[in-house]
Amino acid sequence: MNEASDPEAFATATPAGEDAKQTTTAGAIVVIGAGQAGQSLAETLRKHGYSGRIVLIGEEPVRPYQRPPLSKKYLLGEMEEDRLYFRPEAYYDEHRIELRLGARVDSVDLTTRTVALAGGETIAFDKLAFTTGSRPRMLPAAIGGDLKGVYAVRSLADIDAMGPHCTAGKSVLIVGGGYIGLEAASVTAKLGLKTTVVEMAPRILARVASEATSDYFMRLHGAHGVDIKTGVGLDRLEGDGAVSRAVLTDGTAMDVDLVVVGIGIEPNSEIAEAAGVPVENGIAVDQTGRTLSQDVYAAGDCASFPWQGTRIRLESVQNAIDQAEVAARAMLGQEARYEPVPWFWSDQYDVKLQIVGLSQGHDQTVVRPGKDEWSQSIWYFRDGDLISVDAMNDPRAYMVGKRLLEMGRTPEQTAVQDPDLDLKSLLK
Ligand code: ADP
Repeated sequence: MNEASDPEAFATATPAGEDAKQTTTAGAIVVIGAGQAGQSLAETLRKHGYSGRIVLIGEEPVRPYQRPPLSKKYLLGEMEEDRLYFRPEAYYDEHRIELRLGARVDSVDLTTRTVALAGGETIAFDKLAFTTGSRPRMLPAAIGGDLKGVYAVRSLADIDAMGPHCTAGKSVLIVGGGYIGLEAASVTAKLGLKTTVVEMAPRILARVASEATSDYFMRLHGAHGVDIKTGVGLDRLEGDGAVSRAVLTDGTAMDVDLVVVGIGIEPNSEIAEAAGVPVENGIAVDQTGRTLSQDVYAAGDCASFPWQGTRIRLESVQNAIDQAEVAARAMLGQEARYEPVPWFWSDQYDVKLQIVGLSQGHDQTVVRPGKDEWSQSIWYFRDGDLISVDAMNDPRAYMVGKRLLEMGRTPEQTAVQDPDLDLKSLLK
């Protein structure tokens, strides 16, 4: 029997730290996708003593980097490119993580246990992880989505392409009033661009937040001169090669210099699906990160997992890191389960929004004023139970809400509403 296909080989691999020169391979683990989840997965394998081969395959030409600062500090010019990278180049050699950059996986064959790269090369694996992430939904070419000057805000390449055009006085149209679009708007406004957002739903953030949260961000953007049009979609973009005009669904037209598209993201699950790995709103995994295909795992934006009686997919840094950690441990035969209290954040202007829990399905909200005009928190309840908190410039509300959710406790709504109550008393 091939030693590498024996799961015990994974569980008994000598910790790398014990003998740095050890070159024994206890099977090969191939990780497809070199983003936050892929990085976390590969690092966890080494941290937990796996000494075999790790191949981390990334389509982008650069080593793994943090995405959240891209459309914020990096675009604003407040953060150097070098600070985006999780690890210096030498890290990968030192930890024997074979980084294959600029490498696109075309297909996976679960029978021969090989990954085929575009160009024809194949890489053999004993265990495989999909950390393929997600991609921004784009506007169809038929309505001008392929014109020059239309940008997504997802990759370093996207921001590097868009950055030089974000100069004061230009007009930008942002399509989509979700967190991606609103964060982009806060940056373009700060850079002095005339910024308009169109959101086809009756309010911004409708998919993920309460009316109170939408109202708060409408006011915030209004105060910074951003024009947000709700209940209006984009009909089409026009221009001779490059975009110059946008026509909205209400028939109005506007001149634009650039367009930013923030209309949601889609999981990259096609390669897994084509290989026969079951997909259900992303690559379906259990609480350990295992798919239904033997020795195949998935984590991060591309994976859906069981959570509180349903199956969800999360698009967050926390999810990418933690779920990948659990999957890596499962690959090594360790017991670990992923049962998160999810959290997220969004930075817009000087406001830090911190979110804990998932508000979908709430039937009641309580608004708690904070210490000043821009500080407040929204507490979401379902069937009387606390399920989520949005805290704007109110780290204490976030911290207390997070602790309560972790403990499975629900505070009295009247107590939450009382601005004189010290929130920490709810934890006693
Ligand atoms: P993201 O994470 O990219 O912000 P969301 O799904 O939370 O994704 O938000 C995207 C928003 O874009 C939604 O509120 C949706 O209603 C809006 N949207 C989608 N297509 C259009 C369109 N063609 N014109 C205007 N708004 C759109």
